[in-house]
Amino acid sequence: MKHNHPFSIEASNLTSDKIVLTNRENHHNNTIVSIGPYTIGGQGIAIIAGPCSVENREQITSIARGVKQSGAHLLRGGAYKPRTSPYDFQGLKEEGLLLLQETREITGMPIVTEVITPAQVDIVAHYADVLQIGARNMQNYELLKEVGQVNKPVLLKRGISATIEEFLLAAEYIMHAGNDQVILCERGIRTFEPFTRNTLDLSAVALIKQMSHLPIIVDPSHATGRKDIVIPLVKAAIAVGADGIMVEVHHQPDLALSDGSQSITLEMFAEMMDEVTKIAHTIGRTPHQFINEM
Ligand code: PEP
Ligand code: MN
Repeated sequence: MKHNHPFSIEASNLTSDKIVLTNRENHHNNTIVSIGPYTIGGQGIAIIAGPCSVENREQITSIARGVKQSGAHLLRGGAYKPRTSPYDFQGLKEEGLLLLQETREITGMPIVTEVITPAQVDIVAHYADVLQIGARNMQNYELLKEVGQVNKPVLLKRGISATIEEFLLAAEYIMHAGNDQVILCERGIRTFEPFTRNTLDLSAVALIKQMSHLPIIVDPSHATGRKDIVIPLVKAAIAVGADGIMVEVHHQPDLALSDGSQSITLEMFAEMMDEVTKIAHTIGRTPHQFINEM
């Protein structure tokens, strides 16, 4: 067998032989994805922050300015929203993309935003710096194949009941279609526990770092559904080896049109960044890395 990576032996016993392109055994060095001036997957820890949904100009620009000031690298915000209920806010759609573009011009922050259908891929790719595939679409194979043909990084979120193998196979679809700029995102899986929205699976992060060369980040917001434990889980995620964090932040969480209860305030985000810096230094990583530092 081909076990040159020191950590891959046991992990490889758990996987099928269909895990090829994402497998560390076939690509020993970490994949480093570049987004504007930043990288994900190297020594640095990338911080993606912003609201669940883009709501209006004032909201997205205040949040973007606030998180940037505390050290966020990329701005997140959904324009097309996959909502559990059809009666909930569905997103501003193209208007949301235009507001994100404007906000990038103001702040210089690259944009991460979700694409829900294959037909939207072109328009979202036109505005976004990173295309997000949401948990609900992790096994939408036509969508995976479509983003696999785009020359932009893809942030692939783990499905709510996806095994690690299914998660890697979803990434495999994107890479097989030609796009090797894939960032994985652990965002919690559904368990029997009702006090949290999902259960953050940090074992998956540790295991995927062994099994795959792809970067993996953690989303503590959808994992918990509650802002009061976001910061401790961010600390744990970085300690376990995550390459970045994607967190929901709102300047007025009580007024948010989606996911307000899990959105941290700008003040909490500043506190989070202090903790990120401390843990990153403890484990010999830096809070961020620029391309020219590689
Ligand atoms: C989101 O990031 O806003 C989102 C909808 O997340 P998920 O797909 O993980 O539920
Ligand atoms: Mn959300």
